[in-house]
This record gives sequence, C-alpha cells and structure tokens, in this order.
Amino acid sequence: MSAVSTQNNGQGHAAAGTNGGSQTIKSYAPATGELIGEVPVMSKEQVAQVVSRARKAQRAWAVLPIEERCDRLLRFRDAIVDRAEEIVQLLSKETGKPRHEALIHEVMPIADLLTYYCKNAPRILAPREIELHLFKHRKSYLHYAPRGVIGVISPWNFPFTLPMGDVIAALVTGSAVVVKPSEVTPLIMLKAKEIFDATGLPEDLLGVVTGYGPAGQALIESGIQKLVFTGGVETGRRVAAACGAALIPCVMELGGKAPLIACSDCDLELTAHSIVLGGFANAGQVCVSVERVYAHESVYEPLIRRVKQLVGELKQGDPAKSFVDQGAIIFPKQIEVAEKHIADALGKGAELVCGGKRVAGTGDFFEPTVLANCNHEMTVMKEEIFGPVLGVQKVASDEEAVRLANDSHLGLNAYLFTKDRAKGKRMAEQIEAGSVVVNEVLINHAIAEAPFGGIKQSGFGRIHGEDALREMAETRHVNYDRFAMPGSNPVGYPYTEKSYGLMMKGLRALFSGRGIVQRIGQLF
Ligand code: NAD
Repeated sequence: MSAVSTQNNGQGHAAAGTNGGSQTIKSYAPATGELIGEVPVMSKEQVAQVVSRARKAQRAWAVLPIEERCDRLLRFRDAIVDRAEEIVQLLSKETGKPRHEALIHEVMPIADLLTYYCKNAPRILAPREIELHLFKHRKSYLHYAPRGVIGVISPWNFPFTLPMGDVIAALVTGSAVVVKPSEVTPLIMLKAKEIFDATGLPEDLLGVVTGYGPAGQALIESGIQKLVFTGGVETGRRVAAACGAALIPCVMELGGKAPLIACSDCDLELTAHSIVLGGFANAGQVCVSVERVYAHESVYEPLIRRVKQLVGELKQGDPAKSFVDQGAIIFPKQIEVAEKHIADALGKGAELVCGGKRVAGTGDFFEPTVLANCNHEMTVMKEEIFGPVLGVQKVASDEEAVRLANDSHLGLNAYLFTKDRAKGKRMAEQIEAGSVVVNEVLINHAIAEAPFGGIKQSGFGRIHGEDALREMAETRHVNYDRFAMPGSNPVGYPYTEKSYGLMMKGLRALFSGRGIVQRIGQLF
C-alpha cells in the first residue's frame, strides 16, 4: 500500500476532517496522495436551505419559453467547451483517470447532450394529442409541466458526466436541480457549479450539497419532486425505500456485470481490442465495463493470446505527468475488492493470464488483470467488481453463451461480437440487459437519443433520449369538448331502469363480436 493510502479512512480517498468546528471532507488525488480540496459536510438544515432557494429560482425559470431556456443553456455548453481543459485537469486529478477519458467520456458527452436536448426539447416537450377511439365527442392532449426541484445523487466514477446529464434534463424541462455528488469526488461538481454561475444563469437554479449518505437522505426528505440516483445496488435499495417513504418518483441507475460474447465468427482483432478497452477503460470502474467474456471454443485461445498482448502494451501511471492508458484506482478498498475476486477465482481453478497485483510505489494502482478458464462457481463471473479485472470462460455454442450472459442478478449492458449482423440482432434480443451493443463497447451511454438504464437489480427508469426527457417533466392530461353538448348527460343522473337498459344495449352494440368500437377503430 502506498503512502497515499495511509490518509484514507476506508471510506474512499476522501477523508473526514474539521474546519472551524464543522465537519469537512478532504479530497485526495488517488494517483499521488496530494490533498486537492476540502468541502463541508452539510447538515439536514443546510441541504433544505439549498433546496428552498432552488425552488424560488425555479418559479421564474419555469415560466420562460422553452426556446429561451434552451438558448441560455447553450451558453452553459459553450462555457464548458471553453473551459474543457480546466475540467479535464481536475477530473483527472480527483479520479485518477487518464485525461483522454476525462475528455471523451465526461466532457464531450455533456457538450453533446446539451446540444441534442437544447435543439430537440421544444419538439419533444410540445403538447401531444391523444387519439381517442371511443369518446369521439371529446379531445385529449398531454402537456409536460416542470416538476419543481429534481434531486440528483451521484457516484464517483464519472463525477461530471453522470450528474450533469441529469442536471441538463431537469433544467431543460423547467425544473431546478440539486446535486449531491459522491463524497469521494466532490470537487468536480463544484467546478461545474462555478462555470454555471459564471454564465449568468440564475445561481440558485443549480444547487450542490456536499456530504456523505445522510446528506443524500436529507435531499430525499427535503421536499424534492423526483430523484435520479446513480450508485451501487445496496445503496439503491435504501434510497428507493426512502423515496417510497417520501412518495417521490425515482430513477435507479445501479450496478452492472456486463457480459461480452465472442461468437465463433467474430472479428478477432476487433473483439480483442474491444475487450481490452471495455474491460480497462477508467480502470474498469465503469457500470458498463466488460467484466466477463464468453468466448466460443474456436476463438478462445487466439483471443486470450491477443488480449494478453494488448494489455501488455498499456501504459500505466499518474495521468497528470504524462499521457497514460491506465490511471489510478479510486481508493484502496476498491483494490481489496479486486484482490478478493482474483483469489477466489484462482482458488477455484482459474488461470492468471496477466496482471493480478497492486503496483508498488506512490498512489493506488492495480495491474489490468485477465483470468482465463473461469466458470460461474467463481465470484469474478457473478458479482460486480468495478475494477480492472475480467474473467474469460470458454463456451461451446451461442446458446450456452446467451444462457450464461443471462445468469446474473444484474442487467445493465451487454456486448456481442459476430460478423453476422442478423444473428447479432437476434442474439441481442435474447440477452437480459437494458442495452445490448453489437461489435462495439461502451458507446451506448454516449448516444444522446437512446434510453439508458438497467433491468433486474441494475435498476429502473431511464435517462437520455426522448422518453426520459418527458419523464423528467410531469406528464399532465387535458381532456376537453370538441363541440357544445346538451345540458343533460345521457349516462349521468337520474339513473333509471330505462337508462340502464339503454346502456346495456349500448354495451352489446359497441363491444360484442365485430361491434361498433372495433369497426370505428378500423375507420380512424
Ligand atoms: P454508492 O452507492 O456507494 O454511492 C452513490 C451515492 O449515494 C453517493 O453520493 C453516496 O454518498 C450516496 N449515498 C450513500 N448512502 C446514501 C443514503 N442512505 N441515502 C442517500 N444517498 C446515499 O456508489 P459508488 O461507490 O459511489 O459508485 C459505484 C456504483 O455505482 C457501482 O455499483 C456502479 O455500477 C454504480 N454506477 C451505476 C451507473 C449506472 O448508470 N447504472 C453509473 C455509474 C456507477
């Protein structure tokens, strides 16, 4: 363990401290151990104050025409692009990730999402007429009203792109938003807030509250109208229960255990490169990381050989000093998790292809690790590791690969590689995951138009795309008359024997056999 680790309190590379009597969180750079900032642990009352200020700011924001909201948010995008270098430097320092990844995985998708939503939100959120098949004398439409204040609780692995995606969706729909960033990486969200404020947008519209779990709990209980939570499954259970108690809707973006299926007809070179990038980008600390590979027996050996070669070419080190492929691990506890799964696999007969141990010296680094000859008795194939470790299992058929891919309590992302696109799509539809990507890795979270989220214990609700934007707003229904009606309602009072008989006749005429409703349905 490095000198850095002695400063850690086991809860992350952020350690608790005090400043003038109040509790603080200290943020350390995982690659060097350098102290890079300190933020307050906010009390329940302080969290409530931020939410209350956001609510006041929201009233003026909500009445602006959506086009104006979008125009103003595009200025925020421009400021993010102008200050991208500053954001990248801090992101890389606070998380230990390579600068390329800070830029491509975090800053770029936010610039793109802002562009996509600001361009398309007026259309996506425009009132929508609903076709009525029975009540032809009336009309219905939906409109999308701002909810009020949206809460966002986020993890440490993508501390800019994850909360900011939700921030943008909330603001576009006319809500205010309050973010509780991870206690492990609190500084980057404060940088985002500083940039937001500098663009002239109403300051209180975006609030940031810092602290540990209790600050998140306080946010849920502060009277917000919706929560978007991203984090681990166990925290997610507690958070969903708290949202249930507060009766607020929530989106749960939880853990993953993405499988990658390498079919017998896969492009070996593409598949090997994708396994390495998908498994080791952000040191494997990605909810959609490739964590397990099912390789057809005909490609198993050459694939492992090529993966080993490619992993051997990865450069690891402090991302602030040079351009590296592999940065640091967020904190020592995450290394211990990796070690535990590797020991379990090796004890049950797995082969160590490469890696397997922490790197001596300053900072928290772990070698990218590949394990072959794995099976589902091993935790490496079953539990989320969230580190640079991937297991490879040999399979005899596509059917076996799909069965094993589905043998998981998680269902966030999956990948499969084949040269046969029709087969790829067929197999993709059999895989139990929120998204399945054929012949590529990691890309889908960055597709602004496509919904992202999990099934099974990976969560519920979606972010990105049109439906998620509408969901961020409150869908409200208005029903109105198409033409003037007589004063008395034929199915209203008084309830008489005669009117009952007429209604019974009406029921049969409308619905039995090829009744009127079915025929009307065909006409309209
Ligand atoms: P975590 O669950 O430990 O923490 C997430 C956030 O929840 C933090 O801000 C934390 O302070 C807060 N929190 C903790 N207890 C709380 C409580 N009782 N009430 C309210 N808030 C509380 O997760 P983490 O370790 O920061 O992140 C890693 C996990 O996140 C992994 O499981 C990963 O798969 C998952 N993740 C999922 C996605 C996705 O989109 N599905 C994306 C990134 C990460």
